[in-house]
Formats: sequence, structure tokens, C-alpha cells
Amino acid sequence: MTSAPETLPPHPAIAAARVADGELLIGDVPVTRLAAQIGRTPFYAYDRARLDARIAELRRHLPESIHLNYAIKANPIPAVVQHLARLVDGFDVASAREMQVALDTPMPRARVSFAGPGKTRDELARAVAAGIVIALESEGQMRLVADLAAEQGLRPAVAVRVNPDFELKSSGMRMGGGSQQFGVDAERVPQMLGELGRLDLDFIGFHIFAGSQNLDADILCDVQRKTVDLAIALARHAPAPVRHLNMGGGFGIPYFPKDRPLDLAPVGDNLATLAERIAAEMPQARTIVELGRYIVGEAGFYVARIIDRKESRGQVFLVTDGGLHHHLAASGNFGQVIRRNYPVAIANRMDTAPCETASVVGCLCTPLDLLAGKVALPRAEVGDLVVVFQSGAYGLSASPTAFLGHPEPAEVMV
Ligand SMILES: *Cc1c(COP(=O)(O)O)cnc(C)c1O
Repeated sequence: MTSAPETLPPHPAIAAARVADGELLIGDVPVTRLAAQIGRTPFYAYDRARLDARIAELRRHLPESIHLNYAIKANPIPAVVQHLARLVDGFDVASAREMQVALDTPMPRARVSFAGPGKTRDELARAVAAGIVIALESEGQMRLVADLAAEQGLRPAVAVRVNPDFELKSSGMRMGGGSQQFGVDAERVPQMLGELGRLDLDFIGFHIFAGSQNLDADILCDVQRKTVDLAIALARHAPAPVRHLNMGGGFGIPYFPKDRPLDLAPVGDNLATLAERIAAEMPQARTIVELGRYIVGEAGFYVARIIDRKESRGQVFLVTDGGLHHHLAASGNFGQVIRRNYPVAIANRMDTAPCETASVVGCLCTPLDLLAGKVALPRAEVGDLVVVFQSGAYGLSASPTAFLGHPEPAEVMV
């Protein structure tokens, strides 16, 4: 006994999936063949061609004067970061380990910047030695960097991370506005800049990041305008001309059933207008948009194998060898307020119409380990492969891999 599936239009990620002979293709490789190549499940696979296509799309819409940074915390695996090193203009890192991943690539050091509220003395000393840009998140961090710079006889490039007096509304994660652990409140920045001017630090500009995961172009454009206004106002208090303006990002991707993709065209047009203002008011500024999930999220697939199929009082459960220990975000436990399903499919039955409602669960002994609740799927059997789309960002590195002690998944690029 199973209930009939509800019919919704296919998620854009599923609609855009490439399929041959009923199998999902990841970088032209049929998924069962990829599983055979890797030799085990579960795995994450990242599609190079999709990364290339995404960057090309961004370049088509964004004006040439806007530089594109990749925020490594979205997906820090070295193969991905190396690949992106040739495609983007800079990297944002949020730990000394991410800094090393960035420095292992051909990206010039001056194009790597380090943000994060809790940089330790050791991390900051390493960043000073490395010669990367340091985003100062507090007055205390500024003084510590000045001390470390004096000890090393270096004059590091620093930017002030500003906690704006506005926020990115309807975003997945708000990281600016109100009280925040990130950055320095905008109203305190003029005084901080006065002190910065008396220290032996190379002030280069500002980092203003208001939030994440936004799908509404109008809201993004509004925040970008406010960000540029704020930077222009603060530049009047700066000890040197602004040469670096990291205006954040926040471009979202559709995860959930009713999400629709962000329309890049108006965002690009708005940035073109803003680039003219920046050129007039801060002619030396290198303007940066920093993106994480928008670059890598849709290029990643998480694939797990069904190891049991069972029914419980009328509900079908497909039990997989994966779970939240690999993909916390898909289980709904990574910053979601209401649990909603990531797009999932039976990767080796892509041509078969849904005929039942089933829940896809992981192998952990906790009810939290739900990869997809009550989704319309074709009938799936033990041995079939479940794919979770939109898994390229905040996947494995954002998951509690030690929980219950199961093996870690493989990660490959295709
Ligand atoms: C996490 C983070 C990003 C990337 O956010 P996405 O939503 O993945 O684009 C960019 N900038 C900063 C400062 C961040 O902390």
C-alpha cells in the first residue's frame, strides 16, 4: 500500500539533468559507470563542465570591471579550487587551512583575502607572512595584525570588514545588519579608520557582506546599491584611497520545490550602473563580488546506494548507505528553519515516471537522518542509486562525518 505521488513541476535542477539511456550523466559519464569507476558508494561528484559553464554565464552578465572571487568555504576540495584558480579573479578564505589550499594554486597571493571573526594569532601571523589581504573584523584584530606585522617587519594589506546598517532580506543566512559577530559596525568604522591611519598597515579598502542565498534580483540590487553608498561614505574617512571593494555576493541557487533560479540579467545591469559610480568616486578601486554556492552548488551531486527497501504502515522507505553524516544540509539541519527537500532522483531510472511516494533515509540510527521526505519517485529497488542535486556547496565539509563512525564518502571531479 503506497499513496499516490503529488505532482509538482520538476525542480529546475532535475529538468536540467543530462540523461542517456535512463541514466544521469555526470560530466558525460553515466552514473552507474562512475560508481563502478570509484569502486564504492556513497560519493560526491563535481562536474568540471558545469563549473566552466557557470563562470561563463557570470562573465556574460557581469560587467568586465567587476572581479569575481570564489569563497572557498563553500567547497574547499583542492581539485575544485585548483580548477577554479584559472577561472576566477581571487579567492576568499576563512581559515589558515583554506589559505593553504588557495596558496597551493597559481592564484597570486595579493588576490587571496582572509575573512572570519575568530582568526587566531597563529593564523594571522601566517597570513601576514603569506602576504594575503586580511579583512579586519574588529579593532582588536586590527591591533593584533599591526603587532604581528611589526614583529615580522612587514606591512600587510588590510581591508576593514564592515557590518552594514542594512541587511539582505529573505536570504538563507543573514550575515550583516543588526548585531553581528562579523565585521565592525558601520557607525564605528570612521573612528577605526582614524586609528588605522596611525598604524603601519597598508589600508586598501572595505569588505561588506550582507548575506547569503538570495534568489530575488530586486533585493540583491537594492543591497548592492546600499553597499556602494556605504563604501563611498566610509571612503571619506579612509587614510588612503580605496583600492579594494569587496561588495559581498549572496547570489542564491534553487534548492527547494518552489524556488526559481536567480535572474542574473538585472543583477548584471545594476552592477554596470554601480561600476560607473565606483569609477567616478573611487577610481582606484578593484571591485569584487564574492560567491560560493552560486559557483559550485549546482555542479555537485551526492550519490548513495539503496541498501534496503521497506514499508512501514503505508509509507515506503528507501534506506541508503549515505546520510546526514555526509550531507547535513540535505537533511535540513544546516541553518534551515523549515525542513524542505533538496531535489532528488533515482539516478539510474531517470526516464521512468514517478509512481509512488517514498522517503529516502540514511543509515544513521536517528530520525534526523532523512535525505528526502515523501517525494514522488519511480519504484526503486535495492542496488539503485539515489542522487541529491545541488550538492556542490556546503556538502561534505559542512557535515558531521564522525557521527556514528561510518566511512567517509569518496569525492571526485568528472
Ligand atoms: C560564506 C561566505 C561567502 C559565500 O557565501 P555563498 O552563500 O556560498 O555565496 C561569501 N563571503 C563571505 C564573507 C562568507 O562568509
